[in-house]
Amino acid sequence: MRIDLLTIFPGYFSGPLETSLVATAQADGTVDIRVHDLRDWTTDRHRSVDDSPYGGGAGMVMRADVLVAAAESVWNDVPPGTQVAPPQHVAGGPRPRTVLLTPRGRTLTQALVRELAEEERLVLLCGRYEGIDERVHDLVATDEVSVGDYVLMGGEVAAAAIVEAVVRLLPGVLGNAESAVLESFEQGLLEHPHYTRPVELRGHTVPEVLRSGDHGAIAAWRAERALERTRQVRPDLLGPGGT
Ligand code: SAM
Repeated sequence: MRIDLLTIFPGYFSGPLETSLVATAQADGTVDIRVHDLRDWTTDRHRSVDDSPYGGGAGMVMRADVLVAAAESVWNDVPPGTQVAPPQHVAGGPRPRTVLLTPRGRTLTQALVRELAEEERLVLLCGRYEGIDERVHDLVATDEVSVGDYVLMGGEVAAAAIVEAVVRLLPGVLGNAESAVLESFEQGLLEHPHYTRPVELRGHTVPEVLRSGDHGAIAAWRAERALERTRQVRPDLLGPGGT
């Protein structure tokens, strides 16, 4: 899989992309992640990616001409400044799945992550400032995705969340493929509690059943705890009856 990240803060991604399994997945060729500085597509001497809003109001708006040109270059793998003809054309096929990070988007869920992980290419476009010119939504985005009902300063955290969630589902990234299947949200439930050594800590003891060696009893205990926790914390996951 290839993931392209478009941002005005390329340095932001050095930590997330150079850490743990995301770094390993790049090193072994499972994923090819490329970070692009949106300012490389600006044409003025100030390298402006934003301008004041038509109609007035607070804050600046990200410019559609810059973002559309950047997306076209990345889709076609051509350097900044190369004209793509006809506009929005993608050589060799349909445009890659291009996700605009925005609070108004579809909320990121494990189901959506699974869907994105099936793609050969993903392009993630990070906003900043007050907003993004609406024409970027119209001309570039195949998807609008939000990481929750709150407002971040920019789309970089949201894009990093998508990268982590998607990359860990790629074949070979998790040591034990089962762990991706048994996790929170995969079965419509939150995950059961985990314990490791020591057996006792400040009066809190690891449940007896987990030390019993009885795999059937352990599986039953975990299923009950997962259901109980989901009922307590996220009954919405269980549907109207809460069962
Ligand atoms: N004025 C916008 C609004 O009210 O929806 C918020 C703009 S926010 C300060 C700047 C950028 O951060 C957005 O364009 C988007 O790319 C990103 N962003 C903020 N919150 C987000 C969220 N919950 N999910 C995804 N991206 C988000």
